[in-house]
Amino acid sequence: MALERTLSIVKPDAVEKGVAAQILARIEASGLKIIALKMIQLTPEEAQGFYAVHKERPFYGELVAFMTSGPVVVSALEGDNAIARYRELMGATNPADAADGTIRKEFATDIEKNAVHGSDGPDTSKIEIAYFFNATEIQAPVEAL
Ligand code: GDP
Repeated sequence: MALERTLSIVKPDAVEKGVAAQILARIEASGLKIIALKMIQLTPEEAQGFYAVHKERPFYGELVAFMTSGPVVVSALEGDNAIARYRELMGATNPADAADGTIRKEFATDIEKNAVHGSDGPDTSKIEIAYFFNATEIQAPVEAL
């Protein structure tokens, strides 16, 4: 099993609902370690850059508007198989399809306002963590990661 890092975002809908700390508690209870953490409000440029991979999708404009609509809580998580484990803990993109016990099943509103983001692979996790955190903001840096 590989030691991995992944980027988590508690999205504006979940922060607005007042469940950010509950989501962070779920993450910690799952055994994933929070190694960086901050609350920020994304600018349109930052949200566009973060979701650039989706820029041809019809919902891109709405997604950027949503992600800039309020503060988000961004964290970097570390653990064995962290990327897949966090995606399992989040549940399916559409909360209607999310399994019981997942974060999205419990806290998401709809396919857009779905409470959390998690990186989808090792290459994206590196890019996404570096998008939000510099080396001094990450605890216990592992040079190999
Ligand atoms: P994820 O990896 O599970 O977050 O899903 P994707 O990478 O496919 O989509 C990124 C984000 O775009 C999702 O988490 C949603 O917030 C949003 N999104 C995905 N599909 C739709 C859609 O059909 N409509 C809208 N409005 N937003 C969507």
